[in-house]
Amino acid sequence: MCVFCSIIKGELPAKKVYEDEHMIVIADIKPAYRLHYLAIPKEHYGTLAELDPFTASDLAFILKKIPDVAKGLGYGDGYRLVINQGESAGQTVAHLHIHILGGEKLRRM
Ligand code: AMP
Ligand code: ZN
Repeated sequence: MCVFCSIIKGELPAKKVYEDEHMIVIADIKPAYRLHYLAIPKEHYGTLAELDPFTASDLAFILKKIPDVAKGLGYGDGYRLVINQGESAGQTVAHLHIHILGGEKLRRM
């Protein structure tokens, strides 16, 4: 079982700041920004490529929820969402997740 599925099942500890029927939001164990949380669907999808037209609504639900969650976590007026896809992009956990990055001034991309 993957590390995020273990966290979702409660078999691995994590700093969980939000949970509903579709998703959890946890603090990244190795934050790269002052605020660095991960929004993770409860369903296991390795990458975006594994979503189909029906399960894609899972992702839409998560994206819709992020502004509320981010507000509660103190991101202020801006944050960056990142989804690493595949090894070359640096994806290390093969369970689709959205990085919520901020809490500081981010460099323009
Ligand atoms: P990615 O490199 O896009 O696959 O992102 C995986 C992220 O998960 C990295 O930023 C890791 O620091 C983070 N991570 C790995 N294991 C854990 C864990 N047990 N709890 C919280 N975050 C984790
Ligand atoms: Zn998983």
